[in-house]
Amino acid sequence: MNRFDYVRPSTVAEAVQALGADPDARFIAGGTNLIDLMKYDVERPGRLIDITRLPLRAIEAKDGGLRIGALVTNASAAYDAQVKERYPLLSSAILAGASAQLRNAASTGGNLLQRTRCYYFYDTATPCNKREPGSGCGAIGGVNRIHAILGASEHCIATHPSDMAVALAALEAVVQVSGPNGERAIPISDFHRLPGDDPAKDTNLAPGEIIVAVDLPAKTFATHYTYLKLRDRLSYAFALVSVAAALELDGDTIRTARLALGGVAHKPWRNTQAEALLQGKPANRETFKAAADLVLQEAKPQSTNGFKIELARRAIVRGLEQAAAGTPQSQSDKRIQ
Ligand SMILES: Cc1cc2nc3c(=O)[nH]c(=O)nc-3n(C[C@H](O)[C@H](O)[C@H](O)COP(=O)(O)OP(=O)(O)OC[C@H]3O[C@@H](n4cnc5c(N)ncnc54)[C@H](O)[C@@H]3O)c2cc1C
Ligand code: SF4
Repeated sequence: MNRFDYVRPSTVAEAVQALGADPDARFIAGGTNLIDLMKYDVERPGRLIDITRLPLRAIEAKDGGLRIGALVTNASAAYDAQVKERYPLLSSAILAGASAQLRNAASTGGNLLQRTRCYYFYDTATPCNKREPGSGCGAIGGVNRIHAILGASEHCIATHPSDMAVALAALEAVVQVSGPNGERAIPISDFHRLPGDDPAKDTNLAPGEIIVAVDLPAKTFATHYTYLKLRDRLSYAFALVSVAAALELDGDTIRTARLALGGVAHKPWRNTQAEALLQGKPANRETFKAAADLVLQEAKPQSTNGFKIELARRAIVRGLEQAAAGTPQSQSDKRIQ
């Protein structure tokens, strides 16, 4: 572990100022990702800015929807009465992630900003363009079972590990940030980036900005939703493929559809063309297969993860079928009844 300074601001303005004053500084919230990265020598902050005393722990009504403070823990968000009742897709996705202990510590802002789980990113003995720009990518042609099938680049094929972010993509959440130039709102679809030729950058957060909240819009999809997470173990494992599906139905006809995938790309992979295809169609397997084909038409396998394309195809169909049937699918859902 390298030496670092530690400060604990009590206002957002102080936190932003402290970050701006030191290019080697990092915010720390629950610490469940950052401390691991420091132990692996992947992150070497000269100063930790502990933001846990900031007043960002409220869940409150906002414009017909809900505003979730950046320091609301994953457990508090998942078990909040309003979130459970109005946004069960979000509760379900959060409870599909990590473990109870981790969810008690992990924060809403930290979850969005957790780094990839690419093995090479954590192993400083191997090349990685995300950790050390220009050094190469150990995963391309290496062990890439968990890597991207959509939106990858020749510089990086990593995936984003968050479950919560996939549900937020389907719900069209908005990330509220504060920084040296004031406050701004970033739609979740623009928050995370694809790797392109600059994989070191995971998000479009500007230097010095802090996440203060995440807003959920008024549309809740509380009746026909599913978060389906496929992974190597039933719990305590990151997604190989996950699907957030949300529907509004008129009888058997789809009025509105939302579809986002996790575990397949550098960001939650929402496909609005597939959503448009679903709209006005009968909610049946044939329709769902057509949507899955559209989502995956540009999928490209890496050397050892070709299985993920068929896995994703089946997961999309099953996720949409479950959403249409109004059947929450996972063990986690039993815990939110
Ligand atoms: C063993 C294990 C299994 C896991 N399994 C899953 C899983 O299945 N699904 C899943 O989604 N997650 C999983 N996680 C990840 C876990 O959910 C994240 O580590 C956690 O959400 C990060 O939140 P935190 O508050 O601890 O972030 P921290 O570790 O404190 O911070 C993470 C990053 O975010 C930055 N940051 C934090 N808050 C803010 C803010 N408000 N504004 C700006 N920057 C900020 C920090 O500077 C840091 O760069 C797992 C973690 C572990 C250790
Ligand atoms: S996939 Fe991305 S994170 Fe993984 S080794 Fe390659 S550059 Fe690094």
